Amino acid sequence: MALTRRHFLQVGACGVGAGCLGGCVGTNRATGDTSFTGLMSIEDDIAMGREQHPKLVKEFGGEYENAKLQSYVERLGNKAAEYAEYQEFPYKFTIVNSPIINAFALPGGFVYVSRGLLSYASNEAELMGVISHEIGHVNARHTAERVGSTQLAQGLLLLGTVATGSSAVADVGSSVAGLVLQSFSREQEFEADSLGIRYMSRAGYDPDMMSTFLSTLREYSQVQAKINGKDPSSVDETNLMATHPRTVERVQRAKDQAVGTAPNATLVNREQFLGQIDGMLYGDDPSQGVIDGQTFTHPDLRFRFTVPEGFTMLNSPEQVVAFNEDRTVSIVFDGVTVPEGRNMATYLQRDWSGDVTLRDLEPIDVNGMPGATGWARLNGQQGQADVRGVAIRHGGDQVYRFRFVTQPQQTDAFSERLRQTTYSFARISAETANAIKPHRLLVVPVQSGDTVAGLSKHMPHGRYNEEMFRVLNDLVDGRPLHAGQYVKTIVL
Ligand SMILES: [Zn+2]
Repeated sequence: MALTRRHFLQVGACGVGAGCLGGCVGTNRATGDTSFTGLMSIEDDIAMGREQHPKLVKEFGGEYENAKLQSYVERLGNKAAEYAEYQEFPYKFTIVNSPIINAFALPGGFVYVSRGLLSYASNEAELMGVISHEIGHVNARHTAERVGSTQLAQGLLLLGTVATGSSAVADVGSSVAGLVLQSFSREQEFEADSLGIRYMSRAGYDPDMMSTFLSTLREYSQVQAKINGKDPSSVDETNLMATHPRTVERVQRAKDQAVGTAPNATLVNREQFLGQIDGMLYGDDPSQGVIDGQTFTHPDLRFRFTVPEGFTMLNSPEQVVAFNEDRTVSIVFDGVTVPEGRNMATYLQRDWSGDVTLRDLEPIDVNGMPGATGWARLNGQQGQADVRGVAIRHGGDQVYRFRFVTQPQQTDAFSERLRQTTYSFARISAETANAIKPHRLLVVPVQSGDTVAGLSKHMPHGRYNEEMFRVLNDLVDGRPLHAGQYVKTIVL
């Protein structure tokens, strides 16, 4: 969260332009299928991608500022896109500054990989596999298919609904991430794999590397689950496996179908890849605030707060959003400036809530900071929602806000936990702030006598350092190190 702007994100009416108003049923050039792509034409795909691109980048931490790495990813992406069926898409490849392992695409050829994904890929071919899979979604026009389906129509309606009403409730759940992070169907994933294998192998890359990356991802999720005290078979909500549910077996099946189509596809390029990612930022970028378990700390803005157990946090430049497991409860945190003389209760009712009259409006004291809270039950097309607003003056004209949204039947059950989140908001000392430093990924040659324990000792995963080092370097199953081999390690 950089808090540079107060403006909220809005998902528009899904960028549907003039073309194809009767609904488009056509044969997809990539899949050969007849698909109902709703009201979206090729031009609409591009318009939607263009419109959502800056918002999505912002939401995932902005672009990762590393010109060398960015041009490398562009070069690989363009190489794969040469083999795509829809050449009229203006393909664009972007690295987002997010530590989560993720990749996604917007319609029209906009493809994203996260910094976290680059850290955990082992070679160029694995990265090619990920990018090609995303180009596959773009060419199969899966988002258009989804927009054309009733399911998404309802989903968009729901997002649209919550965004109506007073400004105090605007945009809950309407984040671009919310839309993009919806997973595709199994069929769509299989299709994206098949197409991805086609593109990467025609570009000369070993298609086996699509499934090796998936194995790494599974290992990563298992260690993450252990770190979070969960069953290792459970999967992180916001990683690649959640947005692209796939299995090694399914990727293998897609590969088997493609056998013989590009017999000379053998490029792996491990060392070239490692040379590119050497020195990149690893984990959270402290200038955007750091998520550690259930706590969000912003060293530059000097505060922290904690969300309830079971909630997943997503940090973006404009806000921090947290959801419970079934995403029925949301917390949106952001910052605004309010003139120093203005009382928080007055601000909450007059400025933030607009026309909605708040119930139980009261001043509160949050760890020595003046604040106010109040709530309202709001009607939307999809039913009612209880929205509680909290505004806290951190100092000067800087005010931070929580917006808690529950369904009326859940409000009582969650009220105490959400109240604790309000009162967890606290200033942090300069010392605490300065202690938060970024980690970097380094590529080093193994010397004789080096051990996994020694090479992983500066990693940020505590007692899981060795396990994470093994995941990072394809050394699970107790595979040994050997002198001269290049490995990735993480240092402060
Ligand atoms: Zn996918």
